[in-house]
Amino acid sequence: MSGVWVYVENHGGVVSTISKEAIGAARLVADELGEDLTGLVFGENVSGVAETAFDLGCDEVLGADDATLKGARVEAQGPLLVELAKEHEPAVIIAGASTRGRDLTAWAAADLDAGLMTDCTAIEVDGETVKATRAVYAGKLLSTVFITGGTQIISLRSRAFPQAVSTGNSGTAEWVDAAVDEDDIPSKITGFEEKGSGVSLTDASIIVSGGRGVGGPEGFAPVRELADTLGGALGASRAAVDAGWIPYDHQVGQTGKTVSPDLYIACGISGAIQHQAGMRTSKIIVAINKDPEAPIFKLAQYGIVGDLFEVVPALTEAFKERL
Ligand SMILES: Cc1cc2nc3c(=O)[nH]c(=O)nc-3n(C[C@H](O)[C@H](O)[C@H](O)COP(=O)(O)OP(=O)(O)OC[C@H]3O[C@@H](n4cnc5c(N)ncnc54)[C@H](O)[C@@H]3O)c2cc1C
Repeated sequence: MSGVWVYVENHGGVVSTISKEAIGAARLVADELGEDLTGLVFGENVSGVAETAFDLGCDEVLGADDATLKGARVEAQGPLLVELAKEHEPAVIIAGASTRGRDLTAWAAADLDAGLMTDCTAIEVDGETVKATRAVYAGKLLSTVFITGGTQIISLRSRAFPQAVSTGNSGTAEWVDAAVDEDDIPSKITGFEEKGSGVSLTDASIIVSGGRGVGGPEGFAPVRELADTLGGALGASRAAVDAGWIPYDHQVGQTGKTVSPDLYIACGISGAIQHQAGMRTSKIIVAINKDPEAPIFKLAQYGIVGDLFEVVPALTEAFKERL
């Protein structure tokens, strides 16, 4: 087995941020193993994505350009990845732990009977083995794991690795046919709906989140204003989502999104273990809560005990003045 592969996820021909991080990490793994790095480019009209993959540091690109590969259908992309991996037997396959990356790596691991290390926050090469760090027990512990044989499949948590940068590299991609026909794919795509133009929660370097403490949908207004002032994204606890105050897209936590921003400001959130599971790897955590005993204060580097409806607008004003 030889070679390191990295899945180059794209949306409408644009390489996703999490894939740039995966390429950066995969490049380091390939260099340490003394192997070539191959970018996997699947989609429709993706020749530009292949160019970007070379530019971001891939030595080779293995691609398939077909209408069946558009969108996030694992039933189309999974068999292709498996077919290619059976033919080429790569030592390592790396992808970002996005929804698509998680689907695809799980599919490939199952069909290749290979080991899978998911949602890793650090990786290091030891001989021919990649050792990965991943959070377990809802983030309470970090475990170090490795795979003892076969292709090592790894998905990487968003914002845990620096993005690959332009190298000026170029090359010629190898294009193959898609593995399945449209008629054989059980799920159909009926359309795509663009979400709002706000900052993406998983890509955001600053997140301001509101919980049950905001008291209702209108209570998110000051939280949103602080997020906008800081150029950040708006998050929420499940309690706020379940109450119907804000859409699920904003939920942070075990059953929501896992985020690792530079700054996470929790407003009126108690800090339940399931919420912490999605945000405890944030670099700086600030908690605003009127209950000094709230568990979130044990996790936060900075805590403000007070009413969020007084504290949050005051912070917004202060940031507006400074910024
Ligand atoms: C299987 C499972 C999965 C789950 N997944 C998730 C998940 O993904 N994400 C998630 O968040 N939760 C999740 N939960 C729910 C979790 O257990 C908590 O119920 C939830 O996180 C609580 O949300 P909260 O902190 O907003 O509400 P609460 O726990 O009710 O806390 C509200 C806080 O607001 C404070 N407050 C009230 N008014 C103000 C004010 N005016 N100013 C300042 N502070 C104020 C209160 O002191 C309190 O600390 C899950 C639960 C289960 C069982």
